[in-house]
Amino acid sequence: MIQLYIPLNFLGVIYREIKQSLTDLDKMFVLMEKEREVRDSPDAQPLAGADATVRFDDVSFAYEPARPILKHVSFEIPAGKTVAVVGPSGSGKSTLARLLYRFYDVQQGRITIGGEDIREVTQSSVRHAIGIVPQDTVLFNDTVEYNIAYGRPGATRDEVEAAARAARIHDFIAATPKGYDTTVGERGLKLSGGEKQRVAIARTLLKNPPIVIFDEATSALDSANERAIQSELKSAAQDKTTLVIAHRLSTVVDAHEILVLESGVIVERGTHAQLLAKQGRYAQMWALQKSEAAPLM
Ligand code: ADP
Ligand code: MG
Repeated sequence: MIQLYIPLNFLGVIYREIKQSLTDLDKMFVLMEKEREVRDSPDAQPLAGADATVRFDDVSFAYEPARPILKHVSFEIPAGKTVAVVGPSGSGKSTLARLLYRFYDVQQGRITIGGEDIREVTQSSVRHAIGIVPQDTVLFNDTVEYNIAYGRPGATRDEVEAAARAARIHDFIAATPKGYDTTVGERGLKLSGGEKQRVAIARTLLKNPPIVIFDEATSALDSANERAIQSELKSAAQDKTTLVIAHRLSTVVDAHEILVLESGVIVERGTHAQLLAKQGRYAQMWALQKSEAAPLM
């Protein structure tokens, strides 16, 4: 019995290890696939980066040719300002973020940073200039420290800790037996959606890029936690060129411009006050959110 039991148990461990490695490989291939979607031109230079103004100029995009997702989208985020995007699920909001980060190249129009077409500079320099806090953060099966320092390889423990404090995740990390050496992810400590988002915010704070993208979590379930995260998001976006896919009024009211996206088309745009005065789609959402405390779609 014993002899049979031990090897099987041992195999179980190996099996889990292999399965996990395969999962990591899968993720790697997905990333490599993404890399292959866009290629640097042979003479691509790094982004000059002196001006962090972001522009979408008549951008159209489809994942599959038969199904256009974004149609003639134009807007500008002046350096240091915030543009918020609201709109129903599936309208193309996260696609805007993916295009700016250059996971895909646009099929019509252009996206520029400081006047430079992001297709004409190196992809790595574009990604270096941008920090993303995505809707669902995927963490590496590695230590908390690694996951935060990923924002700036070579960062010291003190710098990692300072970023974690600012993102208000330090106390949580410090309370675990191994602290910053705790492994997170499928093989280690499981983090809630809000905790993962804080790790992503810490990573972005450490990276300190001139441009940040926030894809807010849609769920209004954990509203206390979400409200708490707002102030961390605000500090991470301080003085940065910010694209925020917003689900809460508190995020949009101060935006330089709010875009209402429907089926890949900007159907309304303006400041919070302008859009309320217009009494259109945005004003409807606002009224609904105020009465029901519902997310902005
Ligand atoms: P939102 O963030 O506004 O909910 P998305 O930008 O994620 O919307 O998606 C817009 C549309 O593009 C959706 O219909 C979605 O199903 C589709 N889509 C998103 N990603 C892909 C993909 N990788 N391949 C094909 N279609 C996609
Ligand atoms: Mg989305």
